[in-house]
Amino acid sequence: MSEITQIQPHGGTLVNLLAGDDETDAVRTEAANMPKIVVSPRELADLEMLAVGALSPLTGFQGEADYHSVLDTMHLGNGLPWAIPVTLSVDDETAHRLGGAEAVGLTAADGAEPLAVLRITEVFKRDRSKEAVNVYGTEEPEHPGVAAMLAAGEFCVAGELSVIALPPHNDFQGYRLTPAQTRAAFADRGWRTVVGFQTRNPIHRAHEYIQKCALEIVDGLLVHPLVGATKGDDVPADVRMRCYEALFEGYYPKDRAMVSVFPAAMRYAGPKEAIWHAICRKNYGCTHFIVGRDHAGVGSYYGTYDAQKIFERFEPGELGIETLNFEHSFWCNACEGMASPKTCPHGEETRVSLSGTKVREMLRDGERPPIEFSRPEVADILIEAMQGQEA
Ligand SMILES: [Zn+2]
Repeated sequence: MSEITQIQPHGGTLVNLLAGDDETDAVRTEAANMPKIVVSPRELADLEMLAVGALSPLTGFQGEADYHSVLDTMHLGNGLPWAIPVTLSVDDETAHRLGGAEAVGLTAADGAEPLAVLRITEVFKRDRSKEAVNVYGTEEPEHPGVAAMLAAGEFCVAGELSVIALPPHNDFQGYRLTPAQTRAAFADRGWRTVVGFQTRNPIHRAHEYIQKCALEIVDGLLVHPLVGATKGDDVPADVRMRCYEALFEGYYPKDRAMVSVFPAAMRYAGPKEAIWHAICRKNYGCTHFIVGRDHAGVGSYYGTYDAQKIFERFEPGELGIETLNFEHSFWCNACEGMASPKTCPHGEETRVSLSGTKVREMLRDGERPPIEFSRPEVADILIEAMQGQEA
């Protein structure tokens, strides 16, 4: 199985911050006597991503120099592309309380066992205005990413991590593959090239089509749904997962496609998050990454294809993962198949397209969208999940 040469992780080394079996007890004992910080769910997701190497080459929460370098140049201080800072926020009071502490224990809740030790190199004040503009493209507090940043503390604690245990989860147990595990799974299947698909939505025919177009030119497909924090009106991850399972059962070849979950929280940073998502998927072993219209977008903050165009700001080969850009797709009655504006010459009247609002309305009323729009198995799961929800 090791005959297959895989894509290098970002920066060349797949990071693993989990303490080895022989070290865990020592780190745990050490952590017991340290000040503690309760980490928010969003940053806990980053902690997990750091621990398993999804954010390679990072080995901890970033310091001020890298923070500004990323915001100013989309590169780390060492020159490697990076699009969104990965920081650990604390409020003024906590920053004060830490004083000159050299290390701190990170916990998921008050009184919980520390999950990791952070060896503090610095505490710095974030530039909220600059971060909002350079990551999210707006300072509007209604933007969900900006809102989360504003709600988090104004100080950031930086340093290397020693991780005792991953944040506990009681869902998607069979689907929580680390980058090392997805890489092993790809090698087992003999996939040399793999396309990654980021999603936080149920998959309808349009996205199925895009995934399968991409799969036609590579060996394997990784559907990699994000299951960290999302905004409240996104479809819950457990419902989405049931949709993916139904879709895979009925319509995807088992030796060519797999589902695993992506523990990250959603930032809604559009173009910047598209780059961040692509780099993470490179760490998971993907050679290709799908960027659709309005990737990681929200509201009307970003242009439809901004998330595709931003990749042109890197030198060829600089990111190391190849992006595959797609337009929106649809069923065309005249073509008698799925198509996009690139491949279909017909007008709107022949295309089966429904607004998100219309689809939600139909599902809420217990009505399946047309089979040209959504697989009936997927529609039924969404209908069941939406029963009883308020309009
Ligand atoms: Zn057509």
